[in-house]
Amino acid sequence: MEKSNRAKRWSLSDMTALVTGGTKGIGHAIVEELAELGAVVHTCSRNEAELNKCLQKWADMDLLVTGSVCDVSSRAERERLMERVRSIFHGKLTILINNAGTSIAKPTLDCTAEDYTYLMSTNLESSFHLSQMAHPLLKASGRGSIVFISSITGVMAFKNFSIYSATKGALNQLTKNLACEWANDSIRTNCIAPGPIATSLLKSLFNDEELVAKLVSRIPLGRMGEPEEVASLTAFLCMPVASYINGQIICVDGGRVVYDS
Ligand code: NDP
Repeated sequence: MEKSNRAKRWSLSDMTALVTGGTKGIGHAIVEELAELGAVVHTCSRNEAELNKCLQKWADMDLLVTGSVCDVSSRAERERLMERVRSIFHGKLTILINNAGTSIAKPTLDCTAEDYTYLMSTNLESSFHLSQMAHPLLKASGRGSIVFISSITGVMAFKNFSIYSATKGALNQLTKNLACEWANDSIRTNCIAPGPIATSLLKSLFNDEELVAKLVSRIPLGRMGEPEEVASLTAFLCMPVASYINGQIICVDGGRVVYDS
């Protein structure tokens, strides 16, 4: 293989991407990773001031990133977001990263109907519907790639996370279905299941030092992950070098799910 051809296979140049929830944590790292590797990126979040601050930072870094205010739990707002994406990328999207998500830590018997609807609409329904709407754009690119950000809670049972785990387990299964259903449309679908990653979401759920120490004691690498360690795999899965990887759920967790502790 010629050297220049190899460089192209390990790059995201000429690609367009939508990353949901790009102002903080894992999504923020993914936006930067994709844009630095050559993609033109659109992102969204609910907080306009934070979004504008991030967009300014990325412009200062010469990264090609645009953004919309969007609450992905709202069907109407998702439709507006996809219309914007269709318009700025002229009907062709190469990469969809379904990252935006949230959690509530509660024993199952304390969960309310509102908790259930909030987590299902934010984590699962949004990813399903955005994938549906992105399908024609991804197909039109001729080399589409969807990455869901699920969680190791989708494959293991953690105390107080029953609704969250159900949303993430469903994303794992959705990955397999879309990987089979849309492969003929040149769309690959994969999923990343992170373990504990140091973000504001994790801090809000594990604000007690003892709980964090317990969490870390069960990770063979002996530490939490960083958002960049999820972003690097996300970028890899979207590159031409990953062209035969489809329908996979890959844990980025320091070895947590294989540790019998
Ligand atoms: P953060 O809370 O740090 O960041 C979440 C991002 O998503 C923010 O930009 C937030 O902006 C945005 N967001 C949240 N809700 C919505 C919404 N309804 N509509 C649009 N944007 C939204 O979370 P993480 O980076 O930790 O998590 C990212 C993903 O990774 C989630 O799906 C999470 O479940 C998953 N994950 C995280 C793990 C961890 O340990 N951190 C482990 C496993 C999975 P704003 O609030 O302004 O809308």
